Amino acid sequence: MTDDSLWETPAVTILRSQPGFDLEGLDRNSTPGFTGKKADGERLLEERGAVLSGLQELLYANGRSGDSRSVLLVLQGMDTSGKGGMVRHVVGHVDPQGVDHASFGVPTDEEKQHHYLWRIKKQLPRGGYLGVFDRSHYEDVLVVRVHDLVPPNVWGARYDEINQFEKELVDAGTTIVKVAMFVSLDEQKKRLQERLDRPEKYWKYNPGDVTERKLWPAYQEAYQAMLDKTSTEHAPWYVVPCDRKWYSRIAVTELLIDAFESLDLSWPPADFDVEIEKARLAES
Ligand code: ADP
Repeated sequence: MTDDSLWETPAVTILRSQPGFDLEGLDRNSTPGFTGKKADGERLLEERGAVLSGLQELLYANGRSGDSRSVLLVLQGMDTSGKGGMVRHVVGHVDPQGVDHASFGVPTDEEKQHHYLWRIKKQLPRGGYLGVFDRSHYEDVLVVRVHDLVPPNVWGARYDEINQFEKELVDAGTTIVKVAMFVSLDEQKKRLQERLDRPEKYWKYNPGDVTERKLWPAYQEAYQAMLDKTSTEHAPWYVVPCDRKWYSRIAVTELLIDAFESLDLSWPPADFDVEIEKARLAES
């Protein structure tokens, strides 16, 4: 069996959030579209990671030649869904010099003084870069909604505003890959337990994670609303089951490869006379 045939349906097709999608019915331990096993997935991650790396270099090279386009990976998921691992094991395949990475935690005092998109706009990828958001503006319709941090009419207006914001971004040349990462309640418990059992993982444990866990149904409702209202033609959501890390990583690798390929890039031509430069070099 060739690697290509391990995907019976491409990730970009099978994971795309469709109208009417019901989050409650999502099997978070599933591997949609993929027929292989963990070992196949791990091997594929290396192979396809190399492909991703080549494509990112192509974008970076074009950026150096003035191309203003970029790719933005938005990772949104509950604690322990594997956002950090995604950055390390998927984005980690590409040259860090071409990556604009940003993570969004509780807003600072300064950020609180501004519109919620203010801090987001400051971190958008430059032309030629792969931007990575570990959490994003979607926190402003997730944690904010669950904890009533602003009144419902305020967070309620944000869905349309976010759609509009993303439309402008896409029109300006950013391809947005929005990945909604979902672990099951059981798997989250296991991962939190591991953080408590292993001293090298204490740093990842935050007592607040257990508090949020108790709000699971409210979060699921907020995530459902996010998918319903902000999966658009210009910036669709991809729903990724994350109980099996190896699966979520190969799936996101494929989503990124697809995004880069859609840019239809080729190597930028030399902005100097190659023959003259060869002669000059030979003489030097
Ligand atoms: P992580 O838990 O991903 O390692 P941090 O501890 O830095 O990262 O911060 C994440 C926390 O910040 C999460 O609990 C998240 O819900 C919260 N957060 C992010 N954005 C906002 C926001 N706009 N308003 C309130 N809380 C936010």
